[in-house]
Amino acid sequence: METPAKNIRQQERVFDVEAIRRDFPILQQQVNGHPLVYLDNAATSQKPNAVIDAISDYYRGYNANVHRGIHTLAEKATAAIENARQSLAGFINSPAPEQVLWTRGTTEAINLVAYSWGRSNLKPGDRVLVPILEHHSSIVPWQMATESTGAEVVPIPVTPGGEIDMMALDELLDERVKMVAVSHISNALGTVNPVAEIVVRAHRVGAKVLIDGAQAVAHTPVDVQALNCDFYAFSGHKMFGPTGIGVLWGRRELLEAMPPWQGGGEMIEQVSFAGTSYQGLPYRFEAGTPDIAGAIGLAAAVDYLQHLDRVAVAAHEADVLEYALAQGAAAFDGLTRFGEADHVAGVFSFLMDGIPPSDVGMLLDQQGIAVRTGHHCAQPIMAQYGIPGTVRASFALYNTRAEVDRLFEGLAKARRMLR
Ligand code: PMP
Repeated sequence: METPAKNIRQQERVFDVEAIRRDFPILQQQVNGHPLVYLDNAATSQKPNAVIDAISDYYRGYNANVHRGIHTLAEKATAAIENARQSLAGFINSPAPEQVLWTRGTTEAINLVAYSWGRSNLKPGDRVLVPILEHHSSIVPWQMATESTGAEVVPIPVTPGGEIDMMALDELLDERVKMVAVSHISNALGTVNPVAEIVVRAHRVGAKVLIDGAQAVAHTPVDVQALNCDFYAFSGHKMFGPTGIGVLWGRRELLEAMPPWQGGGEMIEQVSFAGTSYQGLPYRFEAGTPDIAGAIGLAAAVDYLQHLDRVAVAAHEADVLEYALAQGAAAFDGLTRFGEADHVAGVFSFLMDGIPPSDVGMLLDQQGIAVRTGHHCAQPIMAQYGIPGTVRASFALYNTRAEVDRLFEGLAKARRMLR
């Protein structure tokens, strides 16, 4: 039997990044007179032709509203959105498609849980634990849910290296804790959190775990049954799918016990002024016309990813990130990296001494290099570091070492100009 390491090396040889890049038409352009180097993938990823074509095929060929029509186009559109749900279920290894709920994205998925599960399960004295490095969308919905139930949000400390302090977590975990809301991968620092282990520890005290997978799905295969989590949320647009569509996956018994959170068409069984009864899963949580084109586009993104060798993709991404981190460490004095977890994915977050991140970002943009600057919707971890924000270069499967070289040439130029 081959060792996994040898296996990865062999697969690496078959990963053809140039062929992948040809699948993404947006990457072929010049920006400000330079070939585009797109390093803002943690904000949103680019879309392959397969996704763009799937959306356009729907609008050109079978646009119709779903679920209530008996005409041919409506039946075609309904089959497409339900097939898409099946694809997404397969993608995360859901036991059943009806546990996959369409949402606008991660933010709406977390809000759904905080609103519906939170308001019906939290009471005064209960606690929701949230690591300090979380995205605002994993903090604020819980603040809103606890404000209205008398429960409280308690931060889980994070080490200076940007890892969840697991000893501190153990100290916080007691019977008051009803929910642990944690990201799979941090968007601000790239830390890959030990989510499976967190689930084990949280379940010991009877707490539920919601994993924010926004940054994970493009980088690593996700298996909700292996993770044994209670909820898993993610956005289509960060995994090469369209904006406006995402998924909340939930454990069946939890979803079935949760009240609907938005009322309207699609989610009802029977409506009268005497009272209304609701549909079962998944429709009770999908009021109104869903993002049909988005769901179809997202299924095309799943299909695209599933046709790639994900081990080879992960090896390529790790290589490009390691190269960037090594360049960053060697580049020049005065470049400080934030987040130095043992296990990172996709993100290089840093500051250059004395130069505001936005100035760095603008000078890079002039050279055709797209990065993000600021607090990355993660102000609490920025506050812990005592900084308002960072420059963040974030990578996807189509990025290359040559692009990392362009980034560091760009940074050197920015430093010469701004110092
Ligand atoms: N969580 C994390 C870790 C994220 O990176 C993001 C997007 N930056 C979100 C949640 C929110 O995702 P969306 O805006 O797609 O709802």
